[in-house]
Amino acid sequence: MCGIVGYCGPKAAAPVLLEGLKRLEYRGYDSAGLSVCVDSKVEIFKRAGKIHDLREVVPEDLPGTHGVGHTRWATHGEVTDKNAHPHVSADRNIAVVHNGIIENFSSLRSRLTEEGYVFESDTDSEVIAHLIQKFYQGDLERAVKQALGLLKGTYGVVCMHAGEPGVLVGARHGSPLLLGVGDNEMFLASDVTAVLAHTKQVIHLEDGEVVRVTAADYTATDLRDRKIEKEVETIGWELEEIEKNGYEHYMEKEIFEQPDSIFRAMQGRIDQENATGHLGGLNMSRGELLDVQRVRIIAAGTSYYAGMVGAYVLENMARVPAQAELASEIRYRNPIVERNTVYFAVSQSGETADTLSALRELQRKGARVLGICNVVGSSIPRESDGGVYIHSGPEIAVASTKAFTSQLTAFYLFTLLIARMRDMSLEAGVSFTKELARVPDTVREVLSRADEVRRVAERYYQARNFLFLGRGINYPVALEGALKLKEISYVHAEGYSAAEIKHGPIALINEETPSLFIVPDDGLRDKVISNMKEVKARRGPVIALGVDGDNELADIADDVLFVPKTDELLYPYLMVVPLQLFAYYAALKLGRNVDQPRNLAKSVTVE
Ligand code: GLU
Repeated sequence: MCGIVGYCGPKAAAPVLLEGLKRLEYRGYDSAGLSVCVDSKVEIFKRAGKIHDLREVVPEDLPGTHGVGHTRWATHGEVTDKNAHPHVSADRNIAVVHNGIIENFSSLRSRLTEEGYVFESDTDSEVIAHLIQKFYQGDLERAVKQALGLLKGTYGVVCMHAGEPGVLVGARHGSPLLLGVGDNEMFLASDVTAVLAHTKQVIHLEDGEVVRVTAADYTATDLRDRKIEKEVETIGWELEEIEKNGYEHYMEKEIFEQPDSIFRAMQGRIDQENATGHLGGLNMSRGELLDVQRVRIIAAGTSYYAGMVGAYVLENMARVPAQAELASEIRYRNPIVERNTVYFAVSQSGETADTLSALRELQRKGARVLGICNVVGSSIPRESDGGVYIHSGPEIAVASTKAFTSQLTAFYLFTLLIARMRDMSLEAGVSFTKELARVPDTVREVLSRADEVRRVAERYYQARNFLFLGRGINYPVALEGALKLKEISYVHAEGYSAAEIKHGPIALINEETPSLFIVPDDGLRDKVISNMKEVKARRGPVIALGVDGDNELADIADDVLFVPKTDELLYPYLMVVPLQLFAYYAALKLGRNVDQPRNLAKSVTVE
């Protein structure tokens, strides 16, 4: 959601900024802009629309070697050229890009207006530019700190002043910002993908930190001018991981990467001989793990559905009461934190605002919160008490796919670890770990059948409503399948427990509303088949997603897709992949922007 990139160094800044903004596109945005300092003047270019719209108005040979760029995801004020960032101060000397929301902007705006400052946009962000001007007395860093002291809300900001060539000042509070340290060049960015083409050396800023950057140097301080020593970290991602590598879309690439990404999430973490999991980052002693009496999982969107699968597995295998909850709800519910409860905060980006705020509230109440995240060094892993990195590699498509299956892996491994400390026998553990270790191969097998999914998706893509139905551990998979379809095809889809439709949704069934049933060969199979028959009896088209050899399905359903046989508890991996493909192929047929669906952002950093 929204992106920042800043540059100072020997190169012309505009092309570097445009390239950085292009890399941030995947996060979702509606406008873009940049500002470069040329001959002690701040030049501004901004446009509602896409980066290529911005490119058209930026002169190709624009000189100036330091500047800031922004992709906006509008929160305050419509999507218009004037509301795009950067925003300038009234004297036109200061340019500011801002991610986040300034909650007290309206009182600040009234005060500044009374003092004679004229506003050009409807955004909350513009107050920052005028405030900096108000405090500016020849030292940008000082003025920025004074301005930030008056703000309530969240920000990642980068600012520059025409009178201080070669200097950028960045700060964060609740919205990510990092410094990319290059060879006599520096970058400020909200996301590592914006700098990866130039450097792998980064410094993550913490809330309340301000950094003053020149091409050769940087200093980090807090708002009270106390110096902070920062550590330079090396990013483990490769540039080619953020390229499409021959695939048409990032989503397609990420779906097909899953055998590898699941393998990476498991690598070195399954002890097959002793049938247990090794998770070094939990920061919990054996005794503490043994004391766990309850697990609660907080997350949003796809991560929430992974959490629901996780809760099911924890209860089933480890016999530990577990529950997944929406982060946005728990944080305002004055949650009850009990002893011997472990919380998991699940977020691909590690920056999801709802989940991060819930984590903080739970910690204030004394909870131990572990993270399950993909982006190394992001806020949730840094603020949690330990956790599991899922090592999916960069997930660029807005609709999450490979992060989901790797989040599942984190839950399976944690469950294995604590199940073996409880009732699970060595024998049962060995047979489960064997099957778990085979998942990358079985997922590869499912992917080899992608053309069958394409055929079915192309048959049904024109339907305006869909039901996705599953039970037990596959109920959250049905929810995830419906979410995928909604997200990228804009087709209305409901996920339900197959048993629940008779309590309401069956009223939707007619010849035009297809239902996709997940039918694994588990104890609920016959019940799901009865639910399928109920739909057929009402002339609803039925697609069944079953297990190899289940020939009865073809007699009932209009179309059948099969996955290989596996352990009952591992079907979510195999069932979700055809649903991801189904959504992908349906969206393609509908001509949607698969990687950047409308209104959505990759990492939701606002409430
Ligand atoms: N609240 C600001 C605006 O609406 C910033 C939004 C963003 O983070 O992109 O312009």
